[in-house]
Amino acid sequence: MSQRQLAMVMDLNKCIGCQTCTVACKTQWTNRNGREYMYWNNVETYPGEGYPKKWQQMGGGFDASGDLQEGVIPHIEADYGIPWDYNFDSLAKGEQLKANAPLTWGPNWDEDEGAGNFPSDNYFFYIPRICNHCTNPGCLSACPRDAIFKRDQDGVVLVDLDRCQGYRYCIAGCPYKKVYFNPKISKTEKCILCFPRIERGLPPACAQQCVGRIRFVGFLDDEESQVHKLVHKYKVAIPLRPDYGTQPNIYYIPPTESPVKFDANGKPIEGSNRIPAEELEKLFGKEVHEVVKTLKAEMKKRKETGESELLDMLIAFQHSEMFRLDNNYYQEHAKTKGYKLLAPVDDRYIKGKNTKKISFFKAHA
Ligand code: SF4
Ligand code: SF4
Repeated sequence: MSQRQLAMVMDLNKCIGCQTCTVACKTQWTNRNGREYMYWNNVETYPGEGYPKKWQQMGGGFDASGDLQEGVIPHIEADYGIPWDYNFDSLAKGEQLKANAPLTWGPNWDEDEGAGNFPSDNYFFYIPRICNHCTNPGCLSACPRDAIFKRDQDGVVLVDLDRCQGYRYCIAGCPYKKVYFNPKISKTEKCILCFPRIERGLPPACAQQCVGRIRFVGFLDDEESQVHKLVHKYKVAIPLRPDYGTQPNIYYIPPTESPVKFDANGKPIEGSNRIPAEELEKLFGKEVHEVVKTLKAEMKKRKETGESELLDMLIAFQHSEMFRLDNNYYQEHAKTKGYKLLAPVDDRYIKGKNTKKISFFKAHA
């Protein structure tokens, strides 16, 4: 357990599946050097098989007595798919668009398919996923080299690339399959919650770029942060698959309203809901029912009185208010540890022999 915990809340009612977050992350961290197939942030259509394919059936995490569960390592071709390029130059010459690898699977492969029958009861929604920076990380418990660590100052979970030997137990141990093997350097890599940005008071790129304004970022113990209010005060933000036992620190506001179903004559069925409650319970646990009740009650209150702090927050009038980070906190922490001001606070990750050549880090080391 870390001294403080940084967290993110994502409001699924507002995600439009545009993948801007995915692109923001990809272009910043994973578009080269063996990371081509990695999506530290991906956005899945639910119901769907996700990325990697069928990740929810791949094991890992903990059972009710706290024992680490066996898990599998996804197959790099079958479960992630081989990244491909199109022959755009030939297209300009009027030739057919072709890919340079077999198209078998990839992120967003089953986009907008969902479930049910069109037009009577079909449905889907989007789930953006990053590493959950868990309080009890399955990846960390599974690593025999102690190469994964949780930072004391903010609970961000990182891989120490010097210690990592590429055994991949962490991938099997993470039930969310959010650690990836880099075949070029034989190490595993994962979402770093954009810690170099966070230490300067900026939100992670996925949150900053989110056009739907669905992402809130802040410290869970900071009572002024919207993250704290959504998780602890209003209790409307809950983790994905809490049954995996890793205590995630990425929280979700579940889909609250969905269109009604149509009967055989094409007439709306009053009071029906296309998203089955049992599907939401599978994803978010039993608590989801109370959350949906609270959100609906608050919507009613807002309609009747015009007042609701909760809905004001969820509407997110001011993007900047969604993020409450603390540059000074990191600087103070750095001082007590003897680092130079503005130097990245925890240097185990960035000073590894595999990362120290990155010029961005060099400038601040
Ligand atoms: S989501 Fe997976 S990779 Fe991230 S901290 Fe939790 S167990 Fe580790
Ligand atoms: S940028 Fe925001 S709205 Fe768009 S897919 Fe990502 S989380 Fe959803």
